[in-house]
Amino acid sequence: MFNRKHRAQARIIWRWVVNLWRALILGKDHVLPFVNVFHLTHRCDANCTWCSQREVIGEEEHPELPHEKLRIVLLRLFKISPALYITGGEPTMHNELVPLLKLARELGFWPITVNANGLQLYRFPEILQYADRTVVSLHSHDTHLQCKILGIRPRIVFRLITNLRAFRRLAEDHGNKLFINCVLSSENVHWATAVLKLCILNRTPLTINPVIIDRKPALETASVTMRQEYQAFLDLVIKQKKTHPWVITNTRRYLMQTRNFGSFHCRPLCIMCVNPDGTVQNPCRAKYPYVDEVLGSLLKEEALVLLNRGLNFKDSFTGCKHNCCKTCFVEPALSLAHPFSAIMSFVH
Ligand code: SF4
Ligand code: SF4
Repeated sequence: MFNRKHRAQARIIWRWVVNLWRALILGKDHVLPFVNVFHLTHRCDANCTWCSQREVIGEEEHPELPHEKLRIVLLRLFKISPALYITGGEPTMHNELVPLLKLARELGFWPITVNANGLQLYRFPEILQYADRTVVSLHSHDTHLQCKILGIRPRIVFRLITNLRAFRRLAEDHGNKLFINCVLSSENVHWATAVLKLCILNRTPLTINPVIIDRKPALETASVTMRQEYQAFLDLVIKQKKTHPWVITNTRRYLMQTRNFGSFHCRPLCIMCVNPDGTVQNPCRAKYPYVDEVLGSLLKEEALVLLNRGLNFKDSFTGCKHNCCKTCFVEPALSLAHPFSAIMSFVH
């Protein structure tokens, strides 16, 4: 009667209610994670200039895990949340990605999201079959600009753009979804409208994120003209959200917030970050500099044990002077700060 999605949704809603109580009524700093973000690998086949993972790409401090150890990690993550977001580096570089997706489904995770740069999607179409949501990066419709941003050869990007519709259909054939992620910087903001049009043409929903450098949106300090161009694009996106809600995955509140580079009450523990070796990362080194960089390993202990040991769940909320305006930080924070509008977005 209740399938994987319904059971997971019930758990996520309950988590939201408990977190709302902790955040709004008790005024606590830490909430429990809504989503497990698993950095499956720190390897990547691209070289984006503004990569938020730049410091760890290519490092060998957190070696990737074989299948049997990945199973232990997933079992422990499932106790924290049924939402699983697999990213990297570039997750398609890990040989175990597809078996891991199958296992995550068996264990009951939902939604299972893979965030990939899309370059190898044609080699691994099973991703579209086993991931509930596949998010691929498309920062420009122009092959040369996309290659410049990703630091790669044109032929590979051309394959992604021309196959977009086929990929979307393949995902839909399996009851799943394909999304485009467009990261906005001064390099591509001028051409972002073309990406939006491409998404509409291919009936593929779009997610917008600004480039974050030094924990603030890079465009905030760009020239006046560039900022105006960015805000004009965000106005267009907000309008599209109203007329064709399916085109844009971000909430309206997030889009308004990001358009104006507004600050927000960030609670970085809304997402639990796991390294390729199964260790759990300090939710934010800037906000919690006194906490170890790594809280412990999921291969050795349960997630709740290491979270409770590393973080003081009795601490009262403290703000943050930074502004990491990324969807993953902002949307959960806004859902706790504005519960009514979160309910309306969920219903719609
Ligand atoms: S594809 Fe992703 S992980 Fe790889 S360099 Fe670009 S932003 Fe970084
Ligand atoms: S806004 Fe950025 S620096 Fe501040 S707590 Fe959130 S993630 Fe950390």
